[in-house]
Amino acid sequence: MSERVRFAPSPTGYIHVGNTRTALVNYLCAKQTGGSFILRLDDTDSERSTEAYAEAIREDLTWLGLQWDETFAQSERMENYATAVDRLKANGRLYACYETPEELELKRKVQLSRSLPPVYDRAALELSDADKAALEEEGRTPHWRFKLDHQTVQWEDGIRGTVEVDLASLSDPVLVRADGTLLYTLPSVVDDIDYGITKVFRGEDHVTNTAAQIQVYEALGGSVPSFSHHALLTGAQGEGLSKRLGSLSIRDLRAQGFEAMAINALLARLGTSDPVEPFTSLDPLVESFDESHMSRSSARFDPAELSALNAKVLHHMSFDQVADRVPAEVDEALWQTLGPNLNRLGDLQDWLAIIHGPVTPVVDDADFLSEASGLLPEGDWDDDTWKAWTGAVREQTGRKGKGLFMPLRQALTGLDHGPEMKHMLPLIGPERTKARLRGEAA
Ligand code: GLU
Repeated sequence: MSERVRFAPSPTGYIHVGNTRTALVNYLCAKQTGGSFILRLDDTDSERSTEAYAEAIREDLTWLGLQWDETFAQSERMENYATAVDRLKANGRLYACYETPEELELKRKVQLSRSLPPVYDRAALELSDADKAALEEEGRTPHWRFKLDHQTVQWEDGIRGTVEVDLASLSDPVLVRADGTLLYTLPSVVDDIDYGITKVFRGEDHVTNTAAQIQVYEALGGSVPSFSHHALLTGAQGEGLSKRLGSLSIRDLRAQGFEAMAINALLARLGTSDPVEPFTSLDPLVESFDESHMSRSSARFDPAELSALNAKVLHHMSFDQVADRVPAEVDEALWQTLGPNLNRLGDLQDWLAIIHGPVTPVVDDADFLSEASGLLPEGDWDDDTWKAWTGAVREQTGRKGKGLFMPLRQALTGLDHGPEMKHMLPLIGPERTKARLRGEAA
C-alpha cells in the first residue's frame, strides 16, 4: 500500500541525529511504497518557533537528500483546529476545567499520598452552569480537556507489535490551554486526518499520546493511521542524546565534513537487524527498508562509528558524486588516486598540499636517498615510472620490500602511509622529488 507519512519537527532548534532518524524512516517508507513524504512544521508555539529554524530544517533535510513531496506549517491552519475544537465541544468530548496549576498539583499530592495514581479526577464534569458562571465571575478562564472513553485501546504497532493501553489509567488530556493556545495533541490529529496520513512513524516517547489520540481521530470522524514507534537513540555510552544535541545536530556534522550519505547509511541501520553498509545513495536503503527489522531497544549513536563509515562511503563514491565539491584541479584520475585515502572529503586539501609542497621530508638514510636520486629516469614521468625507478634502485642497492619503499615514501611525502606512490610520483614531479630526496623542504 502506498503510504502517506509525515515528519513533524518543531522549528525550535536544529534537527539532530535523533529526529533525523525519524525523518529518514518516514522518507524510506514513503519512497518504498510509492507514497508521499510530508514535512509538517509544528510551530503552534509561537514564542519558541522561528522561521530561521524552519529554514534550517528545510536546508538540512535537503542536504541529506530527504526531499519532501508536500509541506505545510501548523500556524497556517489555526482555523481548522478551531473548527475541530468546536466540533469536540458540540459532541461533548471537550469539557471546561477551572483548576489552577496549584490546585491540580495539590490534587496530585493528595492522590500520591494515598497511593492512588495521579490521574485527573474529572471534578470539572460535575460543575453546573451556575458553578461555571461563578468561577468565570472570579476571573477564571477555562482550559479544555478531552474526555477519554475509559476503554483499553489496542493497536498493531509496526515495530512494537500489539500495544494495549488502558485509558482509565490516563488523565483526560488538555487540548486547549486557558489562554486559548493549543497543545500538540489536537492539531497533529486534525492534520493527519486532513492530509490523509496513513502511517505515523515516531519515537516511543509518543506511545501514550497515541493511545489518547486514537480516540481523538475517532471523535473527529477521521480514520486512524497505523502506528510504528521506534526506540530512541542514545549516545555512545547509552546516555540520553538531549545532553549532546548541539554537537550532534546535522548542521554541526555537516560543518565537521561528514557526508550526508554516511549519516543516512548509519541512521537507517542503527538499531535494526540489518548491517550498516557504506551506501553512497539512498536507493538501496529504500529497497531494503523493513520496519519489522527495527529493534524495540534503544540504539547507540557513536560518532566514532560515523567517522569510520564516512571513510568507507567516500571510498565507494564515484568522481561524479563528488565532482562539484572538490577543488578544480581534482579530475577523475586524481580522485581515483586520492579518494581511497580520505576520511573526510576535506582531507583532499592535505594530499594536494603534499603534492604541491612544501613537504618536510623524513630522512633516515641520506646516502640511500642520494643513490636512489641518481637512478631517477629521464624524460616524462607517468604511472610506470615508479616501477622502473624502484626496480633500478633494488638492482643497485639490493634493498627490497619495505626497506626499499618506505624511505622513498617518507622522503617524498613526509608520511609513512598514503596514496599509491606510482600515482604520486608523477604528480610530485622531478624537481620536487629531487629536492626532497636531498632532504630539502620542497
Ligand atoms: N512535533 C512532534 C515531535 O517532534 C511530532 C510528533 C509526531 O510525529 O506526531 O515530537
